[in-house]
Amino acid sequence: MFANFSQGGCMMHLSLLQENMTFEQFCTRYRTERDCIEMLIRIRWPDGYRCPICACAHAYQISTRRLPLFECRSCRYQASVISGTIFEGSRTSLSRWFQAIYLHANPSGISATRLSEIIGVTYKTAWLIGHKLRHAMQTANNQDKLTGNVQISFDRYGSLSGGPQFIPKFNHPMVIGASINRQSETEQIMIRQIYDEPVEYFSTRFNGDEAFANEHVDISKAQLTKFLPFHNKNRSTSTSKLAILLDNWLNDTFHGIGAKHLQAYIDQFCYRFNMLKKKLSSSLDLLRWCAITATITYKSLVLLKTRRQALPLNSNTRKNRFVSAAAV
Ligand SMILES: [Zn+2]
Repeated sequence: MFANFSQGGCMMHLSLLQENMTFEQFCTRYRTERDCIEMLIRIRWPDGYRCPICACAHAYQISTRRLPLFECRSCRYQASVISGTIFEGSRTSLSRWFQAIYLHANPSGISATRLSEIIGVTYKTAWLIGHKLRHAMQTANNQDKLTGNVQISFDRYGSLSGGPQFIPKFNHPMVIGASINRQSETEQIMIRQIYDEPVEYFSTRFNGDEAFANEHVDISKAQLTKFLPFHNKNRSTSTSKLAILLDNWLNDTFHGIGAKHLQAYIDQFCYRFNMLKKKLSSSLDLLRWCAITATITYKSLVLLKTRRQALPLNSNTRKNRFVSAAAV
């Protein structure tokens, strides 16, 4: 069955995307596959479908499949509604995906075990959905560099859960960046795991701040202050608080995370923090990022080192550049 689908046939004011809904309201709003497909089309093509090959605005919508297919009237190129999105290749229904998006964007987050129970999929599927969503969050974080008064400091994950006197054998050192406003409030954050495996606590070397600044700070719009490694008195209280929040969240929600996938969960923590600060509907913002982020495969997640992991070390590691909290 063909339906004509031309420019302007799918208009919706995007301000509606900022609605805040409870989970129950969200499930009601996106109860059927048709509800989800319509929303996905509105997000991907707010001004109407455009052929990715010839930019023609006129297409047929083929609705005989589980998900609609668009065929360009000019060049006959066919594109699925999920091609090029985080949902591509998935056999899980969009309504389940949408519920997973809401629950992952929620401030408390959700474990794969709990997600599998709520949306009715296997643990493996829930785990994969969670990591694909974190991949979309990482894409969002990468597009939003730190600006203004930016503090860069170091801290560790894995040394707080045993109480103030607890010193683990291993830990995960991190670089933490935070944009601080004039009221000394943290406006936006980014955190990176320094090494892709745990390191011995007492031999930890803090490094990678140069690569962090290059990747995550808009130098042309920032006043950058770097702080000494965290055990020094001259540490940033703003970033220290973030390390505690991160530690508590990883332990409370996931009962701790190992080095291999730690960065993905850190990306989720940063994304949620930044969305809360912007007072935006994170579930609908995440849906938008899912609609414009190419998917990542299970094989890439598990077997290949294609994910962002370790930070490149500073160019001259013999000289410790953190001799003072001097502005750069
Ligand atoms: Zn075309």
